[in-house]
Amino acid sequence: MAYVVTQSCCSDASCVVACPVNCIHPAPGEPGFATAEMVYIDADSCVGCGACVTACPVGAIVPGSRLRPDQQPFVALAAEYYEVFPHADRTPVALVPPQRRLVRPGPFRVAIVGAGPAGLYAADELLKHPEVSVDVLERLDVPHGLARHGVAADHTETREVSQLFEQIAAQPGFRYRLGVEVGRDVTVEELETDYDAIVYAVGAAADRPLGVPGAELSGVLGGAALAEWSNGHPDRRSLAGDLEPADGGRVVVVGAGNVALDAARLLTGPLVGAREVVVLGRRSLADSAFTTPELVGLAGLSSVDVVLEAAPPPDGSVRSRLLRDLAGRRPTPGRPRIVLRFDSPVTEVVGPDRVRGVRLGDGSVLEADLVVGAIGQDWTPVAHERGRIRPGVYVVGWAKRGPTGFLGTNKADAEETVSTLLDDLDGGVAARPRAVPAGRGIGR
Ligand code: NAP
Repeated sequence: MAYVVTQSCCSDASCVVACPVNCIHPAPGEPGFATAEMVYIDADSCVGCGACVTACPVGAIVPGSRLRPDQQPFVALAAEYYEVFPHADRTPVALVPPQRRLVRPGPFRVAIVGAGPAGLYAADELLKHPEVSVDVLERLDVPHGLARHGVAADHTETREVSQLFEQIAAQPGFRYRLGVEVGRDVTVEELETDYDAIVYAVGAAADRPLGVPGAELSGVLGGAALAEWSNGHPDRRSLAGDLEPADGGRVVVVGAGNVALDAARLLTGPLVGAREVVVLGRRSLADSAFTTPELVGLAGLSSVDVVLEAAPPPDGSVRSRLLRDLAGRRPTPGRPRIVLRFDSPVTEVVGPDRVRGVRLGDGSVLEADLVVGAIGQDWTPVAHERGRIRPGVYVVGWAKRGPTGFLGTNKADAEETVSTLLDDLDGGVAARPRAVPAGRGIGR
């Protein structure tokens, strides 16, 4: 019986490494691994051993016989992938390289700034070396970053990744320093004196502002801030008042990525109770940024109607078939609905003090009780080479590569940065004591 990877796939490829018959692709190092929306199991080669299920940190892999009806498209998605990329050679591949060992004797102390997925995958990679101990500093009193405060509350399988992070933190040599903010409770200079290396895993700054007139009005907020509020982030408690008018009302979500879909589901759910959420893509349906696994999830919602206001593509891909299914649905009066509308750039947020609607490119005004901007994250690129900002100072995660990818994308990313860091430890260039060039590095 073949297994199937479903919506919560985090792409960290633990399953790929566990598979004894090399039937999960794309694998790390193969073309498309870093950009694929998920990994896929080849039903014809899968021997049904279940090793991948045990390895998966997010409960994404289920036996084909136990798929719910709304999960069936994942069978077709996998078949579609192998039609294009047959991966004909199924010789078991030792994807796990021999464990590298440090040449220089330790002990080495590494500080990781940020206890989100990127920081914790980096800690896991470093702790493969018994000479290395890791302190993970976190501004908040609770760890797990985006996995705790950014993952949509209804993505319960994805949230299971916290169990992996707890296992990482339970390893010898790991220590949390929670409630410690660099720049407030500890200086960069102190860190650089106390540790052999510092890894910044601070993510992307915040929701990208809408950047149109009226975007500063009350009742305009960002998609990441909304997710954080719903997950109890201490910095977002004040949003509750802003959200009240959305109860029973209409919300406009600007942007057509996965954060927009997360926001739409949340807003139509019991926590906010919007009657209608209109997701506005500034370009066409073909240009939409949401992934097909998330589209499968949206199409499978039973508590809300999904209305597609665009002509779906005619081709036979799974994505197009899903879109055609949505386009053919008729909404039920009285049910909450998510409307997907395209070619609708927002030029202004309208309202005297609180938002009343958005003006669109054609000059029309779409009335709204709340506007959520889901147009990506603000991010300042950091100059680095394979994760090295300079010897002794490194970067991982969104702070390194920008706000893209899935939770598990951080695993391969952390492996690259840690490999660079180990090179420097072995080369003697990162170890204490050393002069710190003034005025350089993150946090100064
Ligand atoms: P995203 O995928 O980059 O999508 C951003 C959307 O905003 C695009 O539709 C983009 O349209 C639009 N946009 C950008 N600037 C705009 C502007 N000035 N005005 C109007 N629209 C604008 O970003 P995201 O949704 O924040 O997601 C970030 C990353 O996290 C992605 O890799 C995503 O897959 C991942 N993520 C994954 C999940 C999941 O797997 N469940 C959940 C959340 C996030 P254009 O194409 O026209 O620029």
